[in-house]
Amino acid sequence: MRDEIWVFIEYQDGEMIENCKEILYEAHRLARIKGKTVHALVMGKKVKEVYEDIKRYGVVTIYSVEHSLLATYTTDAYVAALESVLTMYRPLLLFMPSTTNCRDLAPRLAARMKTGVVTDCVKFTWGSDDVLLMTKFIYNRKAHCTFDSHTGRTQLATVLPKVFPPALPKQCEEEVPVYNVPIRLNSSDIRTQVLGVIEAEASSVDLSEAGMIVAGGRGAKSKEGFMLIHELAYALGASVGASRVATDEGWVPFERQIGQTGKVVAPKLYIACGISGAIHHTMGIKDSGTIIAINYDKSAAIFGLSDIGLVGDMHEVIPLLIQKIQKY
Ligand code: FAD
Repeated sequence: MRDEIWVFIEYQDGEMIENCKEILYEAHRLARIKGKTVHALVMGKKVKEVYEDIKRYGVVTIYSVEHSLLATYTTDAYVAALESVLTMYRPLLLFMPSTTNCRDLAPRLAARMKTGVVTDCVKFTWGSDDVLLMTKFIYNRKAHCTFDSHTGRTQLATVLPKVFPPALPKQCEEEVPVYNVPIRLNSSDIRTQVLGVIEAEASSVDLSEAGMIVAGGRGAKSKEGFMLIHELAYALGASVGASRVATDEGWVPFERQIGQTGKVVAPKLYIACGISGAIHHTMGIKDSGTIIAINYDKSAAIFGLSDIGLVGDMHEVIPLLIQKIQKY
């Protein structure tokens, strides 16, 4: 087992995503305590475009895997590629961002490599020897739990965004070596094919930064019904969010989804309309300021979390609210 801490780099337009900068900050902190080194692992079809950015964050080496089958993310290709790289180099730890891709990738990879993975970590401390203690929230953030790992194999962890500060870029004085790792991938082993990529709406705001959110769920009933959510949001100057039902139905794009597999938000005001309050949704809104719920079922779970509850049909309540708001 090598004495190295690796960070899996996700990137966009030649720059690594913010979550990776935060992981690099924490990786360097952990490395300093134990005298270890931090290395980056980057994969894709045109990986070179991100080298310059990575080099500014104090890594000792960049391990690079370039392959046409890694052009867009597929579970089979990325798991196979990562497995062969990790089997070859056997780093002590591999940190990954808690992005949609890595949330899919990390558990699959851990199962394949018979190693441990802790997802959505919020804290790391060293235990005895080289055992890392990894802490994450459980029970809808009501408690936290710390895990350690004794598998003797590379430990995997995904890290929640906005928990650690981002590492700051520095002028790179020393040459950072790039190792091009050769891997074998067969297109016949890859069971899914990406037919196209739908770009996110250019104008969409980052929900995790929004100050006010009006979100709609199954209660909206249709894409046309969901227009009411847009109208209320417009009247308030708020952003539009949604439950998974609403995004799965195609009433709003996926980047509007809030919850476990969507965005984690913390607005000052959150209005949930026709949303039941399933735990997968509410874990994404727990840090909101005031929560208002509109639901015609007075026993809906969302009322347990809300500060203000309006029991009624959202298709009747929302137009009245809009009228009131417009009077001010
Ligand atoms: P429902 O649960 O069907 O609730 C609809 C609510 O609307 C009901 O309470 C009903 O009383 C009310 N209603 C209906 N009509 C009206 C009306 N006219 N006026 C007022 N109220 C009305 N969900 C997410 O949201 N985000 C996630 O990230 C997410 N991740 C998931 C991850 C996993 C692994 C799994 C298994 C599930 C995940 N889900 C997620 C799904 C989640 O469990 C729920 O199924 C989903 O949140 C329910 O959406 P909803 O509240 O819109 O629909």
